[in-house]
Amino acid sequence: MRSFTYSSASDVAGAVEEISGQPEAKFIAGGTNLLDLMKIDVMQPRHIIDITRLDLATIEETAAGGLRLGALATNAETAYHEQVENRYPLLSHAILAGATAQLRNKATDAGNLLQRTRCYYFYDKATPCNKREPGTGCAAINGINRIHAILGESEHCIATHPSDMAVALAALEAVVLVSGPEGERAIPIADFHRLPGNTPHIDTNLGEDEIITAIELPAKGFARNYTYLKVRDRASYAFALVSVAAGLEIEGGTIKEARIALGGVAHKPWRLPHAEALLHGQPATPENFRKVAEAYIAGATGYGYNTFKIELAKRAIVRALQQATEMEATS
Ligand code: SF4
Repeated sequence: MRSFTYSSASDVAGAVEEISGQPEAKFIAGGTNLLDLMKIDVMQPRHIIDITRLDLATIEETAAGGLRLGALATNAETAYHEQVENRYPLLSHAILAGATAQLRNKATDAGNLLQRTRCYYFYDKATPCNKREPGTGCAAINGINRIHAILGESEHCIATHPSDMAVALAALEAVVLVSGPEGERAIPIADFHRLPGNTPHIDTNLGEDEIITAIELPAKGFARNYTYLKVRDRASYAFALVSVAAGLEIEGGTIKEARIALGGVAHKPWRLPHAEALLHGQPATPENFRKVAEAYIAGATGYGYNTFKIELAKRAIVRALQQATEMEATS
């Protein structure tokens, strides 16, 4: 680990002021990913700004009837919050599908969105990796790529985003609130994470001098028909090979609205509104679920070890939609 300097911010404006003009500085809150990466020298910030004292941990209703999750609310506080459990159970289930109880007690909601890929080569400094060291190449494309992307990837990077929470937030159409030198702005979750393109070292559209202050959920939570299906190698403390966050609005057996987001398949949560729309006004049948699954995975590319994900993702979508539908039938 490289040596670094440390300071502690007492308010958002001070935190923004301190990080501005310091490209080698990083905020730290839970530190559950950053510290690991610093210990193995993959991330080497020269200065650490502790933001744990900022007043950003509150979870409260918004004027529009939604819910605002403070950036520093922990994953555990969020998953077990009464309003999240009752109104956004899809989010609660997704968070609890990730990591361990100890990590969820420490990790923050903003940190969850900002965690880095778990590509093995990103963590191995003996191998080329465009995300870790731009221009060195991608060891995964012709390497062991079982956990890697099948959608939205590029010749420069085929990494996936590891978050479960972000997948549910994508299905729920959450908005990320940020603050920077130019003031505050809101980034729809669909625009928050980036595809790798030729800049895989840049994971998100958050500015280097901006801080996440909150995540806002709209009023609609799909609490009646939802599921978070996570397919992984073991039942806990494992990242998704494929995950599906699904929310349905069903009336009399007909789907009025469908939301589907995938994890484990791309550099960002993968959502296709035009494919979701294939279900609108249609009966909730396995045949219609398979049609939407085919549309979601159209154009997917396998790289050898991860080619199994193409069919796995289709089957996971169908199964998730069946599970979400059956909740209504049994409620
Ligand atoms: Fe690096 Fe991305 Fe290639 Fe993994 S997939 S080795 S993170 S460039």
